[in-house]
Amino acid sequence: LLYNQVQDLKGTIRVYCRVRPFLPGQSNGQSTVEYIGENGNIMIVNPLRQGKDARKVFSFNKVFGTNVTQEQIYEDTQPLVRSVLDGFNVCIFAYGQTGSGKTYTMSGPDLTTQETWGVNYRALRDLFQISKARVDAIEYEVGVQMIEIYNEQVRDLLESTSHIYFNSLTTCTLDIRNNSQLNGLNVPDASLLPVTCTQDVLELMRIGQRNRAVGATALNERSSRSHSVLTVHVQGRELVSGSILRGCLHLVDLAGSERVDKSEAVGERLKEAQHINRSLSALGDVISALAQKSPHIPYRNSKLTQVLQDSLGGQAKTLMFVHINPEVNAIGETISTLKFAERVS
Ligand code: ADP
Ligand code: MG
Repeated sequence: LLYNQVQDLKGTIRVYCRVRPFLPGQSNGQSTVEYIGENGNIMIVNPLRQGKDARKVFSFNKVFGTNVTQEQIYEDTQPLVRSVLDGFNVCIFAYGQTGSGKTYTMSGPDLTTQETWGVNYRALRDLFQISKARVDAIEYEVGVQMIEIYNEQVRDLLESTSHIYFNSLTTCTLDIRNNSQLNGLNVPDASLLPVTCTQDVLELMRIGQRNRAVGATALNERSSRSHSVLTVHVQGRELVSGSILRGCLHLVDLAGSERVDKSEAVGERLKEAQHINRSLSALGDVISALAQKSPHIPYRNSKLTQVLQDSLGGQAKTLMFVHINPEVNAIGETISTLKFAERVS
C-alpha cells in the first residue's frame, strides 16, 4: 500500500517556485522572470542593475510558470499528501511577499469553483477518496484543526462559532501540549473536529475564514500578517492486524515575507513586522538546520516552529512553495524570497 515514489523523499525538503501571472491591468508589464528551465532553474533579471550583475539563476526542485494550473500544481504535491495515509507527517508551506499568490496556491481564489481549488481542498478530497478505496483493509478517521499565529499568539479558528456572532476579539494564547491520544504529538490546544467528507471540510474552512476576519479592520491586512495553519490528523486501523497508524498534514499559509521600511513602521505595525521577520527567519533556521543534518534544531525560537516541531525533521516531509511576483517593482522582494528558498533547500 505504500506509495513507493515518496520513499526517497523521506526527511528531505523540497522547494517549488511558483511565478504569479500578471493580473488584469498589468498584462503589458515587464517581467523580472527571464527564463524558466526544465530542470528547476529560474533566471531573474534585475532591471536596476547593468551587465552580468543583472542576471541571476536560482535552482529548485521545480519551477512553475505563470500558465501552470491548480491541477498541475496539485499533481506534484499529491505523493506527499498521500503518504499521510501511510503514517507520515507532512508540512506544506506557502512563502512569499503579500500579493505573490500564497493564498491562491493553498486555498484558491474562491471556494465555489472546484477547478481553481487550491492544495488544501484537493488534498482533503484526495485523502477521503483514498481512505474510501482502502475501506476493506484500513479504517480511517480524519480530524482537522485550524489555527492562526499572530504576534506570536496562537488562536483557535474553530473555537465555538459564537466568535462570529459576538464579534469578540478573544485572542487567547493557546498552549502547545503533548497529546497522549495523538500518540504523544505536540499539538496546540485547539479544537480538533472530526470530518468525513469534503463538504464537512469546506464548511469548517468557511467558519475558520470568518473567524479570521473578526476584529480585523480588513481581512487581507490581517491575513497577510498572520500565519494560518490547517492541520489534518489521520488515524488508520488495519482491520486484520488491528495495528494503528497515524499521520498528519500541516497546510501553512505564511504571513507576507516583505520587509517593512523601518523608518516608516511604528507602533502596532512595527511590532507585527518584527514578529513576522523573527518567525520566518526561525522557520528558515529550522529547515536549513534540518537540510544540513545539524545536531541542534532550533525549534524553540518561534510559536510556528513549536507548533510544527513533530512534523519537521525525523521521518517527516516538507514542501515549501515559494511565490514570486514578476513585476519590476517587486524585484527586491523577489530576490530576497529566492535567497530564502535557496537557503532552505
Ligand atoms: P498572497 O496570499 O500571497 O497575498 P494572493 O494569493 O491573495 O496573494 O494573490 C494575489 C492576487 O493574485 C489575487 O487576486 C489572486 O487571485 C491572484 N493570483 C495569485 N496567483 C495567481 C495565479 N497563479 N493565477 C491567477 N491569479 C493569481
Ligand atoms: Mg494571502
